[in-house]
Amino acid sequence: MSAGIREVVVIGSGPAGYTAALYAARAQLRPLVFGGAIFVGGSLTTTTEVENFPGFPDGVQGPQLMDDMRAQAEKFGAEMIDDDIVAVDLAGEIKEVTDSAGTVHRARTVIVATGSGYRKLGLPKEDELSGRGVSWCATCDGFFFRDRDIVVVGGGDTAMEEATFLTRFARSVTVVHRRSELRASQVMRQRAFADAKISFAFDTEIAELHDEGGMLAGLTVRDTVTGDTRRIDATGLFIAIGHDPRTELFGGQLELDHEGYLKVDSPSTRTNLPGVFGAGDVVDHTYRQAVTAAASGCAAALDAERYLSARA
Ligand code: FAD
Repeated sequence: MSAGIREVVVIGSGPAGYTAALYAARAQLRPLVFGGAIFVGGSLTTTTEVENFPGFPDGVQGPQLMDDMRAQAEKFGAEMIDDDIVAVDLAGEIKEVTDSAGTVHRARTVIVATGSGYRKLGLPKEDELSGRGVSWCATCDGFFFRDRDIVVVGGGDTAMEEATFLTRFARSVTVVHRRSELRASQVMRQRAFADAKISFAFDTEIAELHDEGGMLAGLTVRDTVTGDTRRIDATGLFIAIGHDPRTELFGGQLELDHEGYLKVDSPSTRTNLPGVFGAGDVVDHTYRQAVTAAASGCAAALDAERYLSARA
């Protein structure tokens, strides 16, 4: 089964996808947005208070912000389908994307805004304590952890950066790393070692999360050599063990970098295929914020609009 040819299909309903949809809709391009079957609204729907999205002096709940972004795009004519795209054929002038029911949707341009997933520890209670003491983003949530004892898990540059940043707020930061040495670069390591608020637990992994009243109340850690366990009474846990960009669908068609992120011809959002654009965390190694994702969604819609105009 095949539908008519659209001007713009957007894959993803996070800040990047919804902002791309808003701009494309206001340009009269009637975008069709595939928001995913179970993750409609993207990463911010998994958090509570968002205090750093401009325009909300009192903060805003993540799910509310995403509902409002969706409503704003719909108001101008964006059409939403809350389903996964399961296959794509992006090489030709007319692109094809297939939804989970097997329907093929055709479009002249496709904006890929599928985001990236934070890697998890895989522990019980990890998801339910997200936004309740457990976080994956110091820039987003550090401010909520003033005068608290915090654990950062990870041994790479991101973990060192998060730990160092968190010392602005925290009483103490313990870096828990399952190996005996850090992977982080020399300069990041030195900075963390020199910080009096940061201590290190090497050869150590998190074994269990404890909660009280729905908030993180402590952790049990395990020595990876001896198997001994002990409790750390931290009320903040920042997990910094990496991200997985959602690009499985596009391998073999769109150019990816060595970590699997979508490559674009920066500062534009053009991918290696004409008419296909990338926006948000699926492209972004560095900033990974709602506002930067929204900004690149805007850029992708403008790039798509110009691409279509040049062909009209
Ligand atoms: P996402 O928001 O991840 O959205 C990706 C979308 O793609 C989803 O809708 C998903 O359903 C869809 N998708 C994926 N694959 C497919 C497919 N095959 N078919 C159809 N759809 C698909 N940032 C801040 O600025 N401030 C904060 O306070 C903040 N707090 C955060 C708290 C948490 C717990 C998390 C996880 C992140 C937080 N962030 C915060 C980061 C912010 O959420 C991300 O940077 C932002 O959401 C990225 O937007 P995106 O549109 O690129 O991707």
